[in-house]
Amino acid sequence: MTDMPEAGLLDGLEAICRKRGGRMTRQRRAVLGKLVENRRPLSAYELRDLLRPEDASVTPASVYRCLDFLVEHGLVHRLETTRSFIACDHPEHPHAVQFLICRQCGSVVEAEDKRMEAATEDLGHRLGFALDQRTVELTGICGPCKTDTCKTGDGRTVPCA
Ligand SMILES: [Zn+2]
Ligand SMILES: [Zn+2]
Repeated sequence: MTDMPEAGLLDGLEAICRKRGGRMTRQRRAVLGKLVENRRPLSAYELRDLLRPEDASVTPASVYRCLDFLVEHGLVHRLETTRSFIACDHPEHPHAVQFLICRQCGSVVEAEDKRMEAATEDLGHRLGFALDQRTVELTGICGPCKTDTCKTGDGRTVPCA
């Protein structure tokens, strides 16, 4: 599999994982590989379907166990809005993250906005919350999709016919 451009990236992720005390098993690496390769959020069931041809023993439960591990070690993020998972764009350091999720094409942009992070922290503090989850998910229409949309007579935006 050395001809895959993802292989080097996966090795890097595996090294980060090891540094954090995690053991990258074959199945964990396979799940991570699919997420890196697809560059879009995938559900556990989609991952199961993608992995099945290579490994018949894969079940949704085993995929979830791998995902839990990968999320815990900061290599993958969980998207609550779409109940899916995406490989982290900058896994080198732990971070609060904001996702911009396109309703139309499903693409996701991962942002690491320091002002958002500070604002979230401040909000929790002011309202007396000890935050344990700082992910912010914003939904809308992405740039490329926006230019592909047309306004209807009554001002609604729809995909161009
Ligand atoms: Zn990330
Ligand atoms: Zn889009």
